[in-house]
Amino acid sequence: MARLIVVSNRVSAPVRNAERAGGLEVALQAVFKNHPGVWFGWSGRVVASKEEIETRTTELDGQQYIVTDLTREDNKEYYNGFANRVLWPILHYRLDLAEYSFRDLTGYLRVNEHFADEIHKIIQPDDIVWVHDYHLIPLAKALRERGHRNKIGFFLHIPLPPPEILTALPGHDRLFHSFYDYDLIGFQTETDRVNFARYLVNDCKLATRDLETFLAGDRTIKLGAFPVSIDVDEVARWSQQGARSKLARELEGSLGGRKMIIGVDRLDYSKGLIERMRSFGKFLEQYPHWQNRVAYIQVTPRSRSKIQEYADMDAQVGSMVGKINGTYGQVAWTPIRYVNKSYARSSLAALYRLGSVGLVTPLRDGMNLVAKEYVASQNPADPGVLILSRFAGASHELSGAMLVNPYDTDSVADAIDQALNMTLEERRERHEQSFEALKANDIALWGERFLNELAMKSSELSMFAAAFPKAG
Ligand code: UDP
Repeated sequence: MARLIVVSNRVSAPVRNAERAGGLEVALQAVFKNHPGVWFGWSGRVVASKEEIETRTTELDGQQYIVTDLTREDNKEYYNGFANRVLWPILHYRLDLAEYSFRDLTGYLRVNEHFADEIHKIIQPDDIVWVHDYHLIPLAKALRERGHRNKIGFFLHIPLPPPEILTALPGHDRLFHSFYDYDLIGFQTETDRVNFARYLVNDCKLATRDLETFLAGDRTIKLGAFPVSIDVDEVARWSQQGARSKLARELEGSLGGRKMIIGVDRLDYSKGLIERMRSFGKFLEQYPHWQNRVAYIQVTPRSRSKIQEYADMDAQVGSMVGKINGTYGQVAWTPIRYVNKSYARSSLAALYRLGSVGLVTPLRDGMNLVAKEYVASQNPADPGVLILSRFAGASHELSGAMLVNPYDTDSVADAIDQALNMTLEERRERHEQSFEALKANDIALWGERFLNELAMKSSELSMFAAAFPKAG
């Protein structure tokens, strides 16, 4: 296969340690195992002016990492502005939280142009380019404008809402029309794919026969669902090894025989932490016999704390935890242990294994890898129960989970009680069902499926294009 150039907002260059890497990094490392190439993105460094921007290349195990800096203005307008205060809320169905500003859009487009300029310096005619996530939607267009005819794919790690929501973004047509310059656009679920297909048909009036392949001018684009996953064997191994670790033994000792509920989420409004706290409070109120018999561990590293909505949420969740602990706690029992610290994924696997219940209730989530890691970490002979939001992409695959509506806090409270009471037989059955689904879509397959589709489609697409009269 031709050389692969992967582009994402952040590159932690270079990472050897999968235990420390985030979901996107782990997924991309798995791709690079089979297709060494170039990984391009932001270094994480912010400089005062354009003149100070540096672009650096490093190599590890035959893999190239090229990172570039952003200015303070870029960081404010592109990252904290348009990407995370406009696109993130809108694509997570939260129009109420979107803070649109034209200046941020300009910064967003400027950074995409900067990325394109840097990639222009190294790209070869037969390289395959794979762009990741909502930060970089216009990148293919910027590359085409620089004369590149390479195959370019895009994968959206977060949800894609229905056109009724997408069209609320001012200038949505200008931004989303830049998707036309991709050959293949991948989504986490079929629902996301169909939502975008509806947008292309209803609002962009693109021709299609099957809602998968579309004709846009003289280009054809293909949409597909490619649910991202985890390295199931690796996580299972970490959880087995971790069971004997100091952390796991200390935690187990501190439970004093109580059952443990575990939640692990970045501090983000999409994760439904406020509703979850409300549900847990109701659970303690409605099922008082569980008081002093469960401990709920919630690991929540802070993220994007420069953005106001995140700081507000931080305060709100903290105060709810304090209130529940104050109301139900006893001198020798704290109902919720709320930890704003980040743990290595290997340590988390050991914690998941100790959890009789995994509580994963985002209001909206592209996939949710924590849900998958929880399932992979269980002891198959005595597994815990996953309570999973029906609005997480993972709910499409993890059929053994107890699916809940996170807004319905009474039913989540009931689900916690049911999960804690569930028979071993039902727990095993549910776990097996979800585990089978995980094994059928391991992370190694994810990249292969996407890249094969991107490589394969060109001949099919030209046949398709020939079947339609040219637009205009
Ligand atoms: N994670 C971690 N340390 C932590 C909390 C989370 O390494 O303290 C990892 C977690 O294991 C998972 C990823 O971060 O692999 C979170 O991915 P997910 O899809 O659940 O949510 P996201 O944060 O990407 O929205």
